[in-house]
Amino acid sequence: MSILVVGSVAFDTIETPYGKRERCLGGAATHFALAASYFTQVRMIAVVGEDFTAEHEAVLRRRGIDTLGLEHAKGKSFHWSGDYLEDLNAAHTRQTDLNVFQEFDPKIPAGYMDSKYLFLANIDPVLQLRVRKLMPKVRMVCGDTMNYWISAHLEKLKPVLAELDVLLINDGEAAMLGGVKNTVRAAEHILTELGPKAVVIKHGEYGATGFFSKRIFAGHKGARPFRAPALPLADVVDPTGAGDSFAGGFYGYIASQPELTPTVFRTAMFYGGVMGSFAVERFGTERLQNVTKAEIEERFSLFREISHLE
Ligand code: AMP
Repeated sequence: MSILVVGSVAFDTIETPYGKRERCLGGAATHFALAASYFTQVRMIAVVGEDFTAEHEAVLRRRGIDTLGLEHAKGKSFHWSGDYLEDLNAAHTRQTDLNVFQEFDPKIPAGYMDSKYLFLANIDPVLQLRVRKLMPKVRMVCGDTMNYWISAHLEKLKPVLAELDVLLINDGEAAMLGGVKNTVRAAEHILTELGPKAVVIKHGEYGATGFFSKRIFAGHKGARPFRAPALPLADVVDPTGAGDSFAGGFYGYIASQPELTPTVFRTAMFYGGVMGSFAVERFGTERLQNVTKAEIEERFSLFREISHLE
């Protein structure tokens, strides 16, 4: 089953305690698409500039990602620069240059209209909503956002949240959105007041917790919260894209299954953690370009092992 993703395709300049990289291929949609490509067919809606070459596109194509919806515009691609020098769990943004995204008007190729799963990766909520409205027939909508949109553009974000089956968000952002620091209460607020039927709150290196409303599973009464682990890693080289890679593994697995059940949702959270753990091992998208199915399954077993009581 195909996932259609809209979000940023970017060049990232990143500094971590392990070093600095200039303009590596990144962006929320890129990390997401690469991670999801190990589970299902992915189609992309985004815009890039003249600095995005055939070689960059080949990185996506080699993973079987459909780039027909990747518009090439005059000007420069989105550029993000940030560091993790103070806190490996929280990106510090130095600069964001929207560039070609400023004028972006998303168009959906006719061949994408049968996509069953829609992922609204991090980008201006106005664009997220526009793509959502252009795809009224999808089976499921899942989305991500970031602190910037919550604090400065909440009114634009609210109509997007109202469209979501599942919101993926980190714990700091959940606290902002829920208006309360406690994760359980923040999740409760999000589920009862803002629209998503389930929320997955990510705790960086400590894993993720899923919270469910009664509306999420057809034929089920809802489910208790579920905590999936993260793999304790000695070397976190670059956390950029960990959240999007989590989302890619999570949603890619869901799209590969015949229906959404509580077990499928929980397993998907494990696969999310697996793909996030690969993403942080190297700078940018380097690791996600070259992981194998066997490595994914091996790490999935490790996730089970570290969280299973005999
Ligand atoms: P993550 O670390 O998973 O939260 O996502 C990191 C990616 O998000 C980077 O590759 C950036 O290019 C991208 N990014 C950073 N800021 C923004 C923004 N304001 N809008 C869209 N994408 C962004």
